[in-house]
Amino acid sequence: MGYKKILDLHTHTDNSFDGHHSTMFLCECAELAGLRGIAFTDHVEIDYFTRDGHDKRSVHSYFEIVKARSAFTGKLLVFAGVELGQPMYDIETAEKLIGSLKYDIVIGSVHNLRNMQDFWFLDYEQYDANGIDALLREYFYEEQLLADWGKFDTLGHLTYPLRYICGEHNIPVNIGDYSAEIDGILKSVIKNGRALEINTSGLRQKLGKTMPDENIVARYRELGGELLTIGSDAHYSKDLGAGIEDGMDIAKRCGFSKLTFYQGREPIQIPIE
Ligand SMILES: [Zn+2]
Ligand SMILES: [Zn+2]
Repeated sequence: MGYKKILDLHTHTDNSFDGHHSTMFLCECAELAGLRGIAFTDHVEIDYFTRDGHDKRSVHSYFEIVKARSAFTGKLLVFAGVELGQPMYDIETAEKLIGSLKYDIVIGSVHNLRNMQDFWFLDYEQYDANGIDALLREYFYEEQLLADWGKFDTLGHLTYPLRYICGEHNIPVNIGDYSAEIDGILKSVIKNGRALEINTSGLRQKLGKTMPDENIVARYRELGGELLTIGSDAHYSKDLGAGIEDGMDIAKRCGFSKLTFYQGREPIQIPIE
């Protein structure tokens, strides 16, 4: 605790369907909260790109961030980002989007399985233990495809379904049952020169831990992982920077001495201090 340079690299504005505050207002809050820098990473769900208006919203989000960046020059580092959901379900659209806007950071995420709703909205009463296991195996398979595609900068909230399965619905999962799958994903992230994200939102939710948790971050390090980002996944101004220092503690305990941020999609490492 008591770190000097706090960067929050995963946040949402009201240009995300589940965000609540404007980009400019969030910058003011981030500056007041003492953050050194913030990346706005509004949702673009590639499989619902035109159906749910992500096409128009992505452009709007980007230009609001650029505007905020110049308004806060010298006060707050503002990074233009995007949280790309399910890019493998429509690779052409995903690659076109990230080629068309000058993002600083692209987060790669899986929020839903193919032709299914976000894990948030699934009715877990319908699934027995085998059903939950099948969901998780399919989820890790899609994460593997995402990591193999590799055209993002950081892999967002690995183990996302646990937020709902274990956190919201109290269904026990032995994450050790998936260690081979998780190893495969981590190895692919490392091979492709990408970063792993520690998403701290789980710390303030029922899950009570980061996504991924400390054991997985330690395993990533053990396998040779070097690039690590931390993000709060804030959807409200009050959550900006939430848990980032806990994430920094985890990074240090797992043997990392540096964190990574991105400018113009180039990784820049800074010491954890
Ligand atoms: Zn997400
Ligand atoms: Zn997010």
